[in-house]
Amino acid sequence: MNWHVNILTLFPEMFPGSLGQSLSGKALDRGDWSYSCVNIRDFGEGVHKTVDDTPYGGGAGMVMRADIIESALLSVENPGRKIYLSPRGKPLTQALVQEFSQEPALTLLCGRYEGVDQRVLDAHEFEEVSIGDYVLSGGEPAALILMDACIRLLPGVMGNDETVSEESFSEGAGGMLEYPHYTRPADWQSASGDVLSVPEVLTSGNHAKIEEWRRAQSEKLTAARRPDLLKK
Ligand code: SAM
Repeated sequence: MNWHVNILTLFPEMFPGSLGQSLSGKALDRGDWSYSCVNIRDFGEGVHKTVDDTPYGGGAGMVMRADIIESALLSVENPGRKIYLSPRGKPLTQALVQEFSQEPALTLLCGRYEGVDQRVLDAHEFEEVSIGDYVLSGGEPAALILMDACIRLLPGVMGNDETVSEESFSEGAGGMLEYPHYTRPADWQSASGDVLSVPEVLTSGNHAKIEEWRRAQSEKLTAARRPDLLKK
């Protein structure tokens, strides 16, 4: 399956960015996913290709115009699910990432300035999605994050489906944070001179005991750092 993302942006040169590297880059080369950018500027008005205007009601900043964004959107042949990256949106969770990764096509609208005219979001039923409780200067980094999280779930991208099924927030991890990891050397002397050893159970070869230890670690970490996940 090819997973396709249309990106409406004023900065198409920001893509594929980090997604052109490593596993997502290889998957892009293989054709497991693809993207196309629509430069909103191309639909701007006048000699300066203006895309924004002052907000009705006054206040600071500029707002991206509904008519310009609509023209950019209508140039997309198969938009699929339409998402506006926005700090006001529903939080991007692993469950939502899983849903998005199963859609054949998505259209991501990247805002700039104070954001976009509400009417185009309403008229075209954009879902608003936030990557966290902080404000970025534009939607492009948020789009890259959403895409990265989806791409690693596409069949064959990670090479081992078990890797993703047991990760933090996944069903396999009971929706909790993942347990800590260790690798060789078994006894490691840090720069302070202390020798730090791997928890004994992990070298025991007893898989049931290892499972039990990992589960307990997951619960402990989640209770300490994200008690909200345990309530879910
Ligand atoms: N005035 C907006 C507000 O207070 O909610 C913030 C606009 S922000 C400076 C410009 C653009 O960055 C937004 O239109 C949105 O596309 C993107 N953006 C900023 N923070 C984001 C977040 N947490 N998640 C997703 N997109 C975000």
